[in-house]
Amino acid sequence: MQTAIDNIYWQAVINNNSKFDGEFYYAVKSTKIYCRPSCKARKPKYKNVVFFANKKLAIKNGFRACKLCKPEKNDYSNPQTRKILSICRYIEANLNEGLSLEELSNNFELSPSHLQRTFKKIIGISPQKYLEASKMNKFKALLQDGDDISGAIYSAGFSSSSQIYSKNIGMTAKTYQAKGVNTLIRYTVSDSSLGKILVAATTKGICAIQIADSKEELEDIFKREFTNAHIIEDNEFLANYLEKIIAYLDNNQELDLPTDVKATAFQHQVWEALQKIPYGETRSYGQLAQMLNKPKAYRAVASACAKNPVALVVPCHRVIGASGDLRGFRWGLERKKELLFREQTRANQTLFNNLVQDN
Ligand SMILES: [Zn+2]
Repeated sequence: MQTAIDNIYWQAVINNNSKFDGEFYYAVKSTKIYCRPSCKARKPKYKNVVFFANKKLAIKNGFRACKLCKPEKNDYSNPQTRKILSICRYIEANLNEGLSLEELSNNFELSPSHLQRTFKKIIGISPQKYLEASKMNKFKALLQDGDDISGAIYSAGFSSSSQIYSKNIGMTAKTYQAKGVNTLIRYTVSDSSLGKILVAATTKGICAIQIADSKEELEDIFKREFTNAHIIEDNEFLANYLEKIIAYLDNNQELDLPTDVKATAFQHQVWEALQKIPYGETRSYGQLAQMLNKPKAYRAVASACAKNPVALVVPCHRVIGASGDLRGFRWGLERKKELLFREQTRANQTLFNNLVQDN
């Protein structure tokens, strides 16, 4: 679980903040090395990092001292940072207590204004904001552990669901669901004639098809879009879908697969309309808007096309500019050009073959 204090630690690492030296150490799972926060070595990926409150713990867990920042030597620890971090820990342990600045100031023997100022200087946000961030982290963690939304709201210390929706927290429960909270998403990455292709699905259907040059790039985009889902790579589960998609790319005109995408009602309408454009044909954004009986909404239509999460199955590549220019494509204009070329060539070929047979 990523706690609010982990975020603070990670920020300190990113910023080489020497004020945090001696307060914690970060260790890198892939290299088995531990460092001071201020270490100038190349930054590891967050997913490879573990934080330790002291170096003994890091050593006990099998990490060696970094040769660059020499964390085994004695540290000067910044008393101000130490005090503020202990306030952070106190906040995290008392999320349900309706903490006030006055209470913190009494407990830690600092004047409210001094506490507020110093906290903000070291942590970057006010104690109040930190409290909210901690609640939000706990809320997310509870949802990921399978709690229902209303239970998680109260266990995380929110007094009502409206607080979750309020602007200063920045995200809504719905956003979490859109990003896949509590959903198991399986994915696979394969070679295709258009580049690397990622196919991901829930038990209900395909939730993402992305095309890019490398597997790493695909996984990066994909994991950012579904930050709250349980994601696993599962080639076997996706084999059937993948086979159909590859067949479609190589020579097949049928691609009718179930989807499971979260979207607004309007986006769903646009994507359904896209699926009605026949293989080998194209429509302009304006024509698509007319298909929806919303002739003036072509801009909104274009924006919904651009947000299509499932390439190919929802054939947004079949929409082009009114004058025949290709306009945009989330997965690269060259790929759009190639797809349309293939579809049109094959559709013409089929038409030709049928004519020959009829005669
Ligand atoms: Zn180091």
